[in-house]
Amino acid sequence: MGKWINKILEPSVAADSDHHIAIEDMARLTDGTVDRAERENLFHHINRCARCYEILQETLKDASFSDPGQPARVPWWKTKTAYALAVSIFLLFIIGGQLVFKQWGQNSGVILATFDLDQELKDILLDDDALRFGKGARLNRLVAVLRQRGLQVKNLDFVELSQPYYQKKSLFGPQEVLHIRIENNVAYLEVKEVD
Ligand SMILES: [Zn+2]
Repeated sequence: MGKWINKILEPSVAADSDHHIAIEDMARLTDGTVDRAERENLFHHINRCARCYEILQETLKDASFSDPGQPARVPWWKTKTAYALAVSIFLLFIIGGQLVFKQWGQNSGVILATFDLDQELKDILLDDDALRFGKGARLNRLVAVLRQRGLQVKNLDFVELSQPYYQKKSLFGPQEVLHIRIENNVAYLEVKEVD
């Protein structure tokens, strides 16, 4: 995950300097010895604080080179939970309007990305109301846009939307992002509101 996290563009979240996470808590977090509620609290701060985020990143780096003599166990940051938390960090970081994409595991063949849902992407979603579409103009447009934005998309067999997309009436509606997961030549798309 270190490599993945390192691709993040400068988090521009202002530091909330009053309650930074103590280094012991950070260590316990990376050790996986905090309970779920505490972990959520810690991440609540990390999500908003570039300083603590950086410290976490360093801590994770160190942790991945931990003593090989230790009994093998799966550290929490290699688990799905950590991955989900990381995604939520990224989501918060893109609220600054920056484009973020992530490639998860060079070898796993799974691409995960999150984009601000801009007009170009909306147009593709609104193109027709099929939730699943195969090869054709709409799919080609999507692939072209994703490539343009730096995703190494090869061939897609089909695309699946989690739900129908409707244009928000208000310009001041919640910001939306598009999550994309590409696996086995299938792109799964999901629009989420971020607040
Ligand atoms: Zn902090």
